[in-house]
Amino acid sequence: MQVSESIHTLKIPFKLRVGPDKTVDRFVFAYLIFGDQICLIDSGVAGSEAVILDYIKNAGRDPREISRIIFTHSHPDHIGAGPALKKQTGCKLAAHIDAKPWIENVDEQYAQRPVGNFYDLVGGPVDIDLGLKDGDRVDLGGGRTLEIFHTPGHSKGSISLLFDKDRALFTGDAVPKPKTVPIYENVAVSIESIKKLKQIKGLEILMASWDDPQLGAGVYPSMDAGLQWFQQIHEAVLTETAGSDAFDTDDLSARVLKRLGFPEIPLVPIVVTSIGAHLKLLDQQKLI
Ligand SMILES: [Zn+2]
Repeated sequence: MQVSESIHTLKIPFKLRVGPDKTVDRFVFAYLIFGDQICLIDSGVAGSEAVILDYIKNAGRDPREISRIIFTHSHPDHIGAGPALKKQTGCKLAAHIDAKPWIENVDEQYAQRPVGNFYDLVGGPVDIDLGLKDGDRVDLGGGRTLEIFHTPGHSKGSISLLFDKDRALFTGDAVPKPKTVPIYENVAVSIESIKKLKQIKGLEILMASWDDPQLGAGVYPSMDAGLQWFQQIHEAVLTETAGSDAFDTDDLSARVLKRLGFPEIPLVPIVVTSIGAHLKLLDQQKLI
């Protein structure tokens, strides 16, 4: 789908295994910025290279024109097709310096953040050519740049990217869509990251990996809605922990998920981590 003259979105479906016989249908967006060169933001899961390369060819461009893939962070649904695309197109890969270790050593990522069918989703480890940090500008050629904003919380190496030409912001998983399952490492840091993004003036387009692009007047309210969702999750944790000092994190997470309207979601470690992130903040009623 074309969002602006330069930006195209690709919605990539995949299945996440959450139990021995249970998968859930998920999707993730990847983005193409067409210019003198082609820049890809995130790559989808392993195998997504086919749909990405087909899209480029159907647009009348040559896949070898991909100069760079920039990963918003290290998780499988964002990096999976990276190794295949690098091999097939010769493009360079970029990610935040804090995301590099889990992209270059996926075994380490799996050990620290197990996901059901991790090795089906990740196409293997791959070297990052350019390590990014907050404030960097990535040159896309033709006078176009992407400005990097370090927006940790969902993961420590998460970035958002501002394509100034279109006042378009790519936020990866930094801004949650309300009513989606909580997945983050540090909720307080996530909130600070969204507040930082809200300071960017004049945004026209916001693209989050789990949501359709927000345009015009919808941009800033979608960031506020993400903040409100964090607060709602926090209030569910406060309610479920009221009057008790000792919690079994699994049991608490199950009760919080039920209260939030996800009674069917199995207790996978990445969700338990997210709920657990609120336990350090039980003395605070308001997080936002
Ligand atoms: Zn993620």
